Amino acid sequence: MKLKINSTLFKTKFFLYALVIGLTLYLVKSCSSDNLEMTSINSSILLENNKFGYNFNNYKVVYDTVRKGDSFGEILENNQLFYPKIHHIAEQTKTVFDIRQFRIGNPYVLLFSKDNSATPLAFIYEENKIEYLVVEFCDTIKAYKESKPVKVVEREAFGVIENTLSETMEAQGLPAQLIYDMSDDIYAWTIDFFRLQKGDNFKVIYKQRFVEDSIYAGIETIEAAYFQHKGEIIYAFNYLTKDSKNSTDYYDDSGKSLQKAFLKSPIKYSRISSRYNLKRRIKLYGNRVRAHKGTDFAAVVGTPILATANGTVVESARRGGNGNYVKIRHNATYSTQYLHMSRRLVKVGDFVKQGDVIGKVGMTGNTSGPHVCYRFWKNGRQVDPFRQKLPDAKALSNKYKSDFLNYIAPLKQQLDSINQ
Ligand SMILES: [Zn+2]
Repeated sequence: MKLKINSTLFKTKFFLYALVIGLTLYLVKSCSSDNLEMTSINSSILLENNKFGYNFNNYKVVYDTVRKGDSFGEILENNQLFYPKIHHIAEQTKTVFDIRQFRIGNPYVLLFSKDNSATPLAFIYEENKIEYLVVEFCDTIKAYKESKPVKVVEREAFGVIENTLSETMEAQGLPAQLIYDMSDDIYAWTIDFFRLQKGDNFKVIYKQRFVEDSIYAGIETIEAAYFQHKGEIIYAFNYLTKDSKNSTDYYDDSGKSLQKAFLKSPIKYSRISSRYNLKRRIKLYGNRVRAHKGTDFAAVVGTPILATANGTVVESARRGGNGNYVKIRHNATYSTQYLHMSRRLVKVGDFVKQGDVIGKVGMTGNTSGPHVCYRFWKNGRQVDPFRQKLPDAKALSNKYKSDFLNYIAPLKQQLDSINQ
């Protein structure tokens, strides 16, 4: 979906350009059509300044950024568009974009006609580096979402660990997301990144997205990786089957899953803000040792908290420093606990499945910011889940085995030939 270009629009414009170039026409289009206005255009400029589907040479262009306190309504009011027109515009845009979702720091563009009229012809808001919203203020308001064409480029990287993975990767100018994906996602269960050794090394094949030819727009996927830790090599291949639940299923070269029977995080797309650490020192407590027997995952209030494995809810309460919390017993050995919730969504006795939403992130109890403190119990003691030999996730089903081996053969060869 993201890569889809509005082909009708494109064809229409191409046709117009051809007309302009071919006949050197002086062309004025009505406001309601795709291109608001076209004046006499020189074909070489025309090709240079085409952005968001408009030829910027034809407009007075005002670039700005959403600032703290800005709302869509205010931006319009500042540009001579008033109620009830604003209300009408909000109604029209409702189906494609929630105008309350304007994010501080995101860029927007206003297009005015060159005849110095005070009201804009179009408003373009960049939701992210790829997607943007267009609102055209004509007799009829038109709002639509579009995506810039994305170019995906495959890259390779390798590195030898001197100290930490992030230091090695940063020194090479590799994107932060790549570091995060490697350590907190792909290899989170198989390699302890806090105990890397000098000489450990990695190789990775990944795909990066670019818009407008050279603007970096994030990592598309990590196709395959190789990590040598204490002499042991662990491959990781991103392989999707028809039964795949998500796009981050990684397997080693024998088809064994790198995931564990537990989710590595009770929150999707979150970062670990504080690890299990028995020797943690906290400034607030006079730098004394206050053991942290949980793993903190930072996320905004209201983010769904997921059960990391199947089990039965044995506690659901609000108590002291824990705030609102839920505890789930998975089997005779393991239980997990989730703290500081804003809301609890399960009660004692409920059976929950892996990935079920059991509550929402909050900051109840002792906490300085919204996060979930995730506690992992083994035989009644709190342990670091990332240091346990946990049961493996389901292995790749036999019916996919030969397809898998065929799929990874060229990738493995490519990894092996990346020169250290
Ligand atoms: Zn914690």
